[in-house]
Amino acid sequence: MRTLLGSVLSLSTLTGAVYGPSYLSAGSTLPSGTIVRSCTRPGTAALTFDDGPHIYTSRLIESLNSIGAKATFFVCGDLYGCIYDLDRTRILEKAFYSGHQIASHTWSHPALDTLAASDLTEEMTRLEAAFDRILGVRPRWMRPPYGRVNGTVQAALRDMDYRIALWDADSEDWNRRTPQQSLARLTKSSSAHDAGFVALMHDPIEGTSLELGVELARWAQARGLRLVTLSECLGEHQPDGQYERLGSPQLRDENWSCRGLAK
Ligand SMILES: [Zn+2]
Repeated sequence: MRTLLGSVLSLSTLTGAVYGPSYLSAGSTLPSGTIVRSCTRPGTAALTFDDGPHIYTSRLIESLNSIGAKATFFVCGDLYGCIYDLDRTRILEKAFYSGHQIASHTWSHPALDTLAASDLTEEMTRLEAAFDRILGVRPRWMRPPYGRVNGTVQAALRDMDYRIALWDADSEDWNRRTPQQSLARLTKSSSAHDAGFVALMHDPIEGTSLELGVELARWAQARGLRLVTLSECLGEHQPDGQYERLGSPQLRDENWSCRGLAK
């Protein structure tokens, strides 16, 4: 886990526009290809958790629910476990039906700027099929692994109707920080922009799911911030800002499998 999470989390060169608050109007749904780092709706902040679902995620969801905080989960198809496994589909459903936002983090967590176009497409569409089967939705938002996005990746994601979420407050939980160190880091850096931070965390890390997530949420709430989904903190229509459509989940069949095709 450490190697994967900690390897290349630096941002590569961003070649497309990064939109700020002045771009947005209340109630809009952002154009595909948009890259965001910060919340724009006053008084809101976004907790985001990448790389799950995993064994600690369910307890994180319960903690957040108990204090009325919403989060956004950038989910992988097959990173620490197969998304079609029964325990993971249940975690995904639990997050979704609790009102947390579900978004894409690619099928297998590659650096997208190293992939051929066809492989990038498959990384997205294979996970779309899983979201469609399990939840009956197609997310509009994604986060590129390691935050790596260049002009080619941005254009490909735009063509697939995705909006791209980065962050402005890195917990560095992937970098061997303890929950206490991450919290100190986040609360120090976030104090300068109460307009609303987008915090990067990883729910497969035990300390993040069991301590950091809820402690950061409590800290933000004590400062008067509302913890909402990423889409909501950008002032988007709900649920249209989060999902392209809301349909019905499908019945489990032999296609609910992580074998074959992708690595
Ligand atoms: Zn990741």
